[in-house]
Amino acid sequence: MMTSPIKQEVSLLSFNTFGIEAKARYFVEVTSIEALKAILLDPDYQAIPKLILGGGSNLLFTQDFDGLVIKMGIKGIEKMREDNENIWVKVGAGENWHDFVVYCLEQGWYGVENLSLIYGTVGAAPMQNIGAYGVELKDIFDLLIAIDRETGNQQFFTHADCKFGYRESVFKSELKDKYVIAEVIFHLSKKPQINTSYGTIQQTLVEMGISQPTPKAVSEAVIRIRKSKLPNPEQVGNAGSFFKNPEILKSHFENLREQYPNMPSYPAGEQKVKVPAGWLIEQCGWKGRKVGNTGAHKDQALVIVNYGMATGLEISELATKIQASVLEKFGIQLHTEVNIV
Ligand SMILES: Cc1cc2nc3c(=O)[nH]c(=O)nc-3n(C[C@H](O)[C@H](O)[C@H](O)COP(=O)(O)OP(=O)(O)OC[C@H]3O[C@@H](n4cnc5c(N)ncnc54)[C@H](O)[C@@H]3O)c2cc1C
Repeated sequence: MMTSPIKQEVSLLSFNTFGIEAKARYFVEVTSIEALKAILLDPDYQAIPKLILGGGSNLLFTQDFDGLVIKMGIKGIEKMREDNENIWVKVGAGENWHDFVVYCLEQGWYGVENLSLIYGTVGAAPMQNIGAYGVELKDIFDLLIAIDRETGNQQFFTHADCKFGYRESVFKSELKDKYVIAEVIFHLSKKPQINTSYGTIQQTLVEMGISQPTPKAVSEAVIRIRKSKLPNPEQVGNAGSFFKNPEILKSHFENLREQYPNMPSYPAGEQKVKVPAGWLIEQCGWKGRKVGNTGAHKDQALVIVNYGMATGLEISELATKIQASVLEKFGIQLHTEVNIV
């Protein structure tokens, strides 16, 4: 069976993009569905807490993990079926997301290019329905194969079963901690699907001297924008956006708008609008402010960073302070996007 030995007292420092030192009591990497089932059903580990780990780019460790960390190493990209215009591909949960995007572009499979340079693994992508630059995972998702953590049974989840929402899925709500995503099937297009309407993609393409963009050019533009806006976790620890953009009632927004005429918003259904959390945090004076070893990033207030020696607890305390100040000033509750362990 393809399972690495179970190790003890393993440092998680190199397994999380926040760069937090925490230890796992037990740690194992699984590279096949059989090995995953075996470890989930192993009587020696049945009763202890388990944490499924992808690339650790959406996690904040606030303490050592007194249980078993299962690192997803299931690999493989397999063509399932295709016709003249479409292709369906099955991808192992442990594949690196951005490498998968690059692979698709090389093969001439389109639809993922706006999701270039998102950190982490394919298996974690449905968890929060990753999204960027006008595209979400749900737009290219077909089906996933998950393993029940209690029984080891394999189950298929259709698009509807996953209940995708804004940075949400059934795996973060009703079925939280119930399943391990093992493989994901994507429905991609063989015809270029250019989507440059969001943010500064169009402008960046112009700066790159491109007037007739290909999907590869869109990917390069997205990479360029992301590199200029977001801190690189290899240089300064972070997990991308720490909070979700809150959705508030239109009536609440109209009231706030009287006091803050420049408050930005985006439509979010009939009764609500979405307000950029970064703007709210900036208005509360957090942007670029250092608090001990942590702080809200100087260019993007929504990203909390580790300036080197921060503990997870320090970061979560700062997050709580930020939430309190946004609530006090605007009456808006921010919810974390990062999973706090
Ligand atoms: C610089 C930066 C920029 C980012 N930008 C974006 C962005 O634009 N859009 C966006 O949506 N996200 C963004 N993120 C967040 C992150 O890239 C995504 O959430 C990504 O999907 C996390 O993948 P991961 O493998 O690192 O997950 P992890 O951090 O390892 O895990 C995240 C959660 O999913 C669970 N999990 C992981 N794998 C599985 C599995 N196979 N089965 C079941 N549960 C699992 C974990 O237990 C945990 O609860 C960014 C992060 C960084 C560091």
